[in-house]
Amino acid sequence: NLEVRFPIRKKKLFSSEVSYLRAVDDVSFDIRRGETVGLVGESGSGKTTVGRAILRAIDPTAGDVIFHTREHDIYLDELEGEELRRFRKKMGMVFSEGPHSIANMASDILRSFRPRMSLVFQDPYSSLNPRMTVRDIIAEPLVASGMMKNRDKIDQRVRDIASRCKLNLEHLRRFPHAFSGGQRQRICIARALVTRPDFVVCDESVSALDVSIQAEIVNLLKDLQEEMGVAFLFIAHDLSVVAQMSHRVAVMYVGKFVEYAPTESLFYKPRHPYTHALLSAIPTIDPDESFDPIRLEGEIPNPLAAPSGCRFHTRCPYATEQCASEIPTWQEIAPEHFVACHRVDEFDFSRDKQSADTT
Ligand code: SF4
Repeated sequence: NLEVRFPIRKKKLFSSEVSYLRAVDDVSFDIRRGETVGLVGESGSGKTTVGRAILRAIDPTAGDVIFHTREHDIYLDELEGEELRRFRKKMGMVFSEGPHSIANMASDILRSFRPRMSLVFQDPYSSLNPRMTVRDIIAEPLVASGMMKNRDKIDQRVRDIASRCKLNLEHLRRFPHAFSGGQRQRICIARALVTRPDFVVCDESVSALDVSIQAEIVNLLKDLQEEMGVAFLFIAHDLSVVAQMSHRVAVMYVGKFVEYAPTESLFYKPRHPYTHALLSAIPTIDPDESFDPIRLEGEIPNPLAAPSGCRFHTRCPYATEQCASEIPTWQEIAPEHFVACHRVDEFDFSRDKQSADTT
């Protein structure tokens, strides 16, 4: 039941008014060891906020973020004040005060959740400090958190992860500007994995790259997952990239999850009209593989004025009066397949069904 609200202050002539933007509203899901969960949705749907709230880079307003370990469960959302400061110290967390660049933010987060949680940002250009060598960038989470102190051991660990990420070891003394976007993203991945974390948030980590480079990075992440057993939350707006990478996929719309299912079920048997609309927008070569197109009218609503009832009702071609007034329940309609839609029992958008109907 994760919830994140941001206060928005509107200035009036003699006063100010605060309203709240519900960026994430009552979202529940789990990620298993060694699994990739894909998170898709249009810009402004709340995907990035979910990732950052899990890492405690943003404070959740309500709900629990639970990190299960062999010994005990850590309720990341419940740590406050002195307790949070102690936990951060124990985990080697240091957050900079005040506004800071993406490169500093990347450093903060990577130090903070060592050795268990980490993050790969979208932009491999702004998330690397231009004044540090590749070796120092990759070694930073080990050094800043105090996880390793011996220089030889640090070098050994850096060389190991750099070669796993298929970086040329001769290049470790160079600075980031000497590298292409794909190579820079490999450096970011090496930095995120150098502490051998259990869980990494990849926030649009391939979106800024050319298609051929995207495929290389996706394959690299899959190889690293197999070798190291790391779990990923893979945030992206491109469903076809998510399909290649994920075991399960969640679809978000204006701060809420609308569907969550194993990848094959979601891609072949979607049950929510919004998921169907997203899938029907992906071009395919084989006509049997395509969905009947749905054209969505209008824009994604402003989260500050989110629609009542089902948030998708203003654009859904199947909306009824009930949809405008009642929030649909989040229900499991098949093993591990969750949907929030009042009319889910009436829909069958599966590809087989559509091909049969067409025939
Ligand atoms: Fe469409 Fe209604 Fe289902 Fe929402 S609840 S997706 S508006 S049919």
